[in-house]
Amino acid sequence: MPVIDAVVVGGGPAGLSTALVLGRARRRVLVVDTGRPANAVSSTVGGLLAQTGVAPGELRRVGRRQLAEHPTVDVRTAAALDAEPSGGGVAVTIEDRAPVLARALVLAHGLRYDPPPLPGVGPLWGRSVFHCPFCDGWEVRGRRLAVHGNGPQAVRSALLVAGWTDDVVLCTDGPARLEGAEPVLARAGVRVREDPIRRLRGGSDGALLAIEFITGPLEVRDALFVRTQRDQPNRLASTLGCRLSAAGTIVTDVDGRTGIPGVYAAGDAATEHSRSVANAIGFGSRVGYAIVLDQLARAAS
Ligand SMILES: Cc1cc2nc3c(=O)[nH]c(=O)nc-3n(C[C@H](O)[C@H](O)[C@H](O)COP(=O)(O)OP(=O)(O)OC[C@H]3O[C@@H](n4cnc5c(N)ncnc54)[C@H](O)[C@@H]3O)c2cc1C
Repeated sequence: MPVIDAVVVGGGPAGLSTALVLGRARRRVLVVDTGRPANAVSSTVGGLLAQTGVAPGELRRVGRRQLAEHPTVDVRTAAALDAEPSGGGVAVTIEDRAPVLARALVLAHGLRYDPPPLPGVGPLWGRSVFHCPFCDGWEVRGRRLAVHGNGPQAVRSALLVAGWTDDVVLCTDGPARLEGAEPVLARAGVRVREDPIRRLRGGSDGALLAIEFITGPLEVRDALFVRTQRDQPNRLASTLGCRLSAAGTIVTDVDGRTGIPGVYAAGDAATEHSRSVANAIGFGSRVGYAIVLDQLARAAS
C-alpha cells in the first residue's frame, strides 16, 4: 500500500486550505471530495475578506487551481468510505481506488445542515431562508425579516436578527415559550406571532414572499432565519472513535488534533459555533501547520 503524508477528506474551504499548507511544505497529499458543500445552495459567500459576491463554487475552483501548482497535491472527486488506524498511520478506503495509507488523516468533510421541515422551504433554503445572520444578514438589512423557532434559543436569535432591521417577527409556530422574555423582545421591536405556520410562499429565484399561517393573516416577509438540524455527513468520525460535542461536532484541540494518533479535523466538522468560510480556511490552515510539525517531531523522536 503506498504511504503518503496526508489524506484530506473534503475539498471545501477547510480541506483545500490544509492541502495548500501541506503542498507548500512539499508534503504528499491526497484530497478527496464528493462536491456537496454546506453552502451549495447559496449564490454568494457573505463576509469573506477581499471577496465580495464570490460564488461558493467559484471559490473552490480558484482554490483547486491554486493547488494544481503544487506537484505533491492530488485532488480527486471521490468519497472516503472508511478509515482505520494502521501501522502508525491511517488506512483510508476510497471509492473506486486502492486503499491509501497516510501518516495523517484530516476530516474536513463539513456538516450536514437540514432546515426545519416547513412546507415550501426547499426552493427558498439558502436564498431567502437562512440560518446565520452573520453570513446573510447584511444582504437583507433593513428588510422585513422573520425568525422561526421557540424557547430561549429563538429569543436569542430574534434579538440577534433585530440588529439588522427594525422589522422582525418571531414566529413560534405554536404556543410561545418565551420564559419571560416578552419585554426584552418588545424593547427590541420584535413582534411575536404564535399561529402555526401553514407554508412558506415563495416567488421566482428562491425569494420568500410571505409566511402563511393556519389562522390569521399572512406575514409579508423578505427573509426568514431558522435553526438547522446539524449532523456529521458520514460515519468516519464515529468509526474512528472521535469524540463528538453536544452540538455533534468533532472535539479537537486548537490545532485540530482529535486525540486519535494521526487523525485531525478541520472546518465545520469540528466547529461548534461561528461556522463560516473564513473560519474554515483559518482552521484548515492551522491543521496543515500542526501536521507538518507533528510529523517532524515524530521523526526526530
Ligand atoms: C445555506 C448555507 C449558507 C452559508 N452561507 C455562508 C456565507 O454566506 N458565508 C460564510 O462565510 N459561510 C456560510 N456558510 C457556512 C459555510 O458554508 C461553511 O462554514 C463552510 O463551507 C465550511 O467549510 P468546510 O470546508 O468545513 O465544509 P464544506 O464547505 O461543507 O465542504 C466539505 C466537503 O466535504 C465533502 N465530503 C463530505 N463527506 C465526504 C466524504 N466521505 N468523502 C469525500 N468528501 C466528502 C463534501 O461534499 C464537501 O464538498 C453557509 C452555510 C450554509 C449551510
